[in-house]
Formats: sequence, C-alpha cells, structure tokens
Amino acid sequence: MDEKLQKVLARFGLGSRRLMEEWIAAGRVVVNGQPAKLGDRVTAQDKIAVDGAVLRIPSWVRPRLRVLRYHKPAGELTTRSDPEGRPTVFDRLPRLRGSRWITIGRLDFNTEGLLLLTNDGDLANALMHPRAGIEREYAVRVMGVVSPEQQASLLQGVPLEDGEARFATLQETGGEGLNRWYHVTLTEGRNREVRRLFEAVGLTVSRLIRVRYGVVEMPRLLKTGYFDELSDEEREALLASVQWVNPATPPSDQVEAAFGPQEWWPAQSPFEVMVGAVLTQNTAWRNVEKAIANLRAANALSVAAILTLSESDLAELLRPSGFYRIKTKRLLALCRFLKARGVDAAPEQLAQQVAGPELRRDLLAVHGVGEETADSILLYALDLPVMVVDAYTRRIGGRLGLLDDHLSYTEVQAAIEAELEPGDVAMRNALHALLVSLGKDYCRPRPRCDTCPLHTHCAYAAGQDRHRQPEQP
Ligand code: SF4
Repeated sequence: MDEKLQKVLARFGLGSRRLMEEWIAAGRVVVNGQPAKLGDRVTAQDKIAVDGAVLRIPSWVRPRLRVLRYHKPAGELTTRSDPEGRPTVFDRLPRLRGSRWITIGRLDFNTEGLLLLTNDGDLANALMHPRAGIEREYAVRVMGVVSPEQQASLLQGVPLEDGEARFATLQETGGEGLNRWYHVTLTEGRNREVRRLFEAVGLTVSRLIRVRYGVVEMPRLLKTGYFDELSDEEREALLASVQWVNPATPPSDQVEAAFGPQEWWPAQSPFEVMVGAVLTQNTAWRNVEKAIANLRAANALSVAAILTLSESDLAELLRPSGFYRIKTKRLLALCRFLKARGVDAAPEQLAQQVAGPELRRDLLAVHGVGEETADSILLYALDLPVMVVDAYTRRIGGRLGLLDDHLSYTEVQAAIEAELEPGDVAMRNALHALLVSLGKDYCRPRPRCDTCPLHTHCAYAAGQDRHRQPEQP
C-alpha cells in the first residue's frame, strides 16, 4: 500500500506534515535517487533520503511513541543548531535512529525547567495548538513585589505588541527583600510571554522556571540538564488531555475508546442477517428493521416461508425497505440458492460446505449479491474472517488519508486486511461496527471534525485546520 510521502516522513518524527511538504518542495527529500515532488507517494520498498541520510523503514509499523521530559538549564537554546555555537537542548539528549526529537514548545535561552520532546511531529503540533489550551505553569522570581493593581492587570489582560495577554492564575509563593517568587499559569506559548507580561506592568523577571506543562510536572529529583522518559501512564494521560489517540493503537481500539464496544449485527438468526444484508442496500437500517418486522409478523422469516409466498405478497412485506421490487427478486434468488445448497433449514451450515473464498465466489454469482452483501453474509451470518467494506469505511479511510478514492472494493479490503490479525472474526466485526458508528456520529457527509475522536490523526481535519490559519506558538 502506498502512502503520501509527507505523511511517512512526519510519522518518523521529522516534523509536521506541513513542514515535510516544505522540505519536499525545497528539494531536501530524495526517493529512489530522484528528488521528490509534492504529491509523491511511497511504499515500503522505496528508499527515502532526507538531506542525504537514508531513512531506514523496517515496516509500516509506527515507531513507538515517546515523550521525554528534559530539565533545561538556563543558557541553552531550544534550536537544533546555533551559528554562534552556543549549547542547545539537543546536545544532551539520546540519539534516535531514523528519527529526531521534536520540542513541544520552546523555552527561552535564559528560562529553565520542564521541556517536553517527542518523536511524533503530529503530537507536538496537537499539544502546541492554541485549541488544546494546554496550561503552562511557571515559577517566577520577580524583582520587587507585585502590587494588587499590577496583579489585577496581569489577570485581566495587558496589551502586548502581538495582542493582549493575561495570566490564568498568579499566586505569591514566598521570598523576602527584593526578590519575590510567584507561580503563574497561562494557556498559550507566545515568545517571552511571561517576561513581557511582567515588563508591561513595570516589573523585571530575574529567574523563570517552567514547572508544569499540562498534566506533566517537573519531578523534584530530576536534576538540571537531565532527562527522563514519561511512563506509559504519564504519556497516556498527556495524550488524553488533548484527546490524542496513540497512532500505535490498533484502529479498532482507537475508535472503541470513544464509542465503547458495539453490538453488531442486530439480528436473531443467521438467516435474518442474510435478509438484512440484502435489504440494507441503498437504504437506512431503520427501514430494513420495518421490513424484517413485517416478515416476522407474517411468520415468514425462513427460507421455506419466503419461497411459499407469492412475489407480490413478499414485495408488500418488503416495501418499507425501499427499491422493494428489486429487493424482492434478490431475496428470492438468495433463498433459492440456499435451498439448492440444501441448507434452507439452517443457512449457517453453508460455511461447512466449502472454503470461504469459494463460498464468496458462489454468493457473488447469486442475482443481486454484490461484494459488500456477500462479505456481510460471510462475516455476520457465517462467522468467517472477512472485512466488510462499505460507504462509511471508504469515506473515513479516505478522509484519514489512509485510502485513495480510486481504489476498488478489493483493494480497499486488502489494504485493511493487511492491518488485521489473520482469522480474527471478532476484530473485523468490531472494527466494522465502530466505523459505522464513527460514520454515523461524526464522519458524516458534512463531517463533525471538531469533536471527532480521530481529529488529531485525520488528514482531512488537518487540512481544515490549516485553512483556519491557527496561531503559531
Ligand atoms: S476528523 Fe472529521 S474527517 Fe476525520 S474521521 Fe473525524 S469526522 Fe471524519
């Protein structure tokens, strides 16, 4: 399966997708010895080099998401290199193979304290985005005492050259004589914002230490110039604070975290599943339910009963499902197929007659049974490990940037199957059900991206955000 080049580069922690597009446009990326172009797609077989260094991509498995906590001393730059040769925060960090540490925000040269770094550019962007509203807490040593008037101004808002700014909280924490300590919090990360705020009310900051970034605090025992790595629990808490879904999490888990386990497919017997699979073509499920309720009320939810009905009587029962004359012929064709196979009393026995691929081929030969219908029958009525591809799957996969619009049903199915555990029926069942829930609740024709649990992983949503031109931290 191919993927967009900038997406692969971002996944390897080289920066955001937008930055990767700039690198590609600037000619810094080479694929198979040729300069890459915007719009290029790559596969696992392609050799990618950035600035002459070959990226080693063992597989399409994402590298483990990592977040470091660094205790920055004063006198280090939050930049990769400095023309004047001054020390940078990267000098003391462990090297990553085929990837780089990306700072989550910045600390000024003279500011100390907590600096988070990650190997995932998209996560860094999500945490820094103003929408995330991440709270930063600083310990500030101020020359002089903050008067009640100054405190009120700092909390209500002070005009700076790049717009008004304010602290969310400001608390005195001690100190005597000339120097006093305060703890302040704010929810954005503009350049030198804490220092400029105090300067705006006539005070000078003599020492500034960041002690917390969102849910991550600076541990007391982490010495200046040292780093540690967030534990799994700390990392997950940080991700949860911005509703970020760890890309290493299987897709079914990602959506299940938002929706919970789904009950699927709503039917009382394998034959009822088959009937539903035929009737659900081009209609909403509630219409299918009405038609099935009619069949049940007429005591006609079996192969034998349906085949004894006249075509017009059956059509009348199926009327609520829409296109009912067409569906009548299709349901009759399926019932005749089941009878011809000798499984009219127990259609689930179909799975014992032939292997799955052969059975799929036979089902596709039945009038009106297409790939989605056949696969729904195989998965939901016969418990065979087959991924169902429907309009929700295509729409969500396409918007996430995982599936191209022009792919055939078979290609989409193969792409998804490649990510799933072979033979796992429950996984396919749950994933499809969750995609349906996501498609109904969020990824509708007019998507509700702002509240979608996959927002931070979605190419479509990223494009929307870009159009809004968010403020850069
Ligand atoms: S973020 Fe938007 S486009 Fe992406 S999956 Fe969610 S609803 Fe669909």
